[in-house]
Amino acid sequence: MPLVDLRSDTVTLPSPAMRAAMAAASVGDDQYGEDPTMNRLQEQVAALLGKEAALWLPSGTMANQVALRVLTRPGDDVIVSRECHAVWHETGGSAANAGVQFTEIGRNGTFTDAEMLAALKPRGHVIYPPTTLVEIENTHNRSGGVIFPQAEAERICASARARGAATYLDGARLWNAAIACRRVPAELAAPFDLVGVALSKGLGAPGGSLLAGRRELIQSAQRYRRMAGGAMRQVGFYAAAGIYALDENLARLAEDHANARRIAERLAGSRRIVLDPEAVQTNILVFRLAEGAPDAPSVVARAAKLGVLVFAFDARTLRAVTHLDVSREQCERAAAVLLEIVEGPV
Ligand SMILES: *Cc1c(COP(=O)(O)O)cnc(C)c1O
Repeated sequence: MPLVDLRSDTVTLPSPAMRAAMAAASVGDDQYGEDPTMNRLQEQVAALLGKEAALWLPSGTMANQVALRVLTRPGDDVIVSRECHAVWHETGGSAANAGVQFTEIGRNGTFTDAEMLAALKPRGHVIYPPTTLVEIENTHNRSGGVIFPQAEAERICASARARGAATYLDGARLWNAAIACRRVPAELAAPFDLVGVALSKGLGAPGGSLLAGRRELIQSAQRYRRMAGGAMRQVGFYAAAGIYALDENLARLAEDHANARRIAERLAGSRRIVLDPEAVQTNILVFRLAEGAPDAPSVVARAAKLGVLVFAFDARTLRAVTHLDVSREQCERAAAVLLEIVEGPV
């Protein structure tokens, strides 16, 4: 029985057609701007996001780190959602690379304009660290793929701008947000100075993220990418996978969302699982194990023996992520396996 791997949407493998597109790619030295396939991808993503220019980077973590270098100075304060990727999943890179401090606000992956204004520290004060950047994560990973309300994002970005703070959208899964709320990615990206998107999550490419924004910000990002050791050469192979992913795998994200909702509906039937299926908006489910259920590491280990892989966030919290390499039937099986374990003896 093949594994049902729901640990993350990063586990997808390039399909034969994606591999064929990669093999056929024309390539050149990207540091001379001579990789035609990469140039095409960067133009395509800039257009999709409604920005002047875009720059490819090897990972989403590097995109987030470079964005901080472009938009902040050491000692600055950055307002973010609680449990955002930059604070929890980048091994302290933001402190080491950009030297910034974070102020985490809001709940459930979102925050309001009023909460942002209450946390924002003005520039030029003799004591306060100036808040020079407000960052939003859409969708929000650790909160379970939550979509940031767009009207609130627009208010937040306008307020931040009026106070001289820049805005950054960590949109590693912006594609999922766009599909789920039926808006074009450019609309979701419009309020922000700089936007990061990933090709290696739900879109199924083997790697790569892009930053998009005004031309002068992208020129600055290019310098910090090089500083981070992320400027590469014949990257057209990756770009070809990215172009294929955008053309072929974007619209189908709706299937992943339906599959995640289906798993959530089944799991919510157990009194030993705390999960509101209505709260599952995209391809990520985060759920708590109630009293009476085994703890998260035990569920992970037992499910793995039965061919289902999920991820433990903490002692009693699990995450499952749907993606293009798991079918509806496999998701049904995964839900059945998880239910059997949770309902069984501790
Ligand atoms: C995965 C992810 C990233 C980083 O991407 P990597 O390519 O794994 O470094 C950044 N932000 C969010 C919200 C993510 O989920």
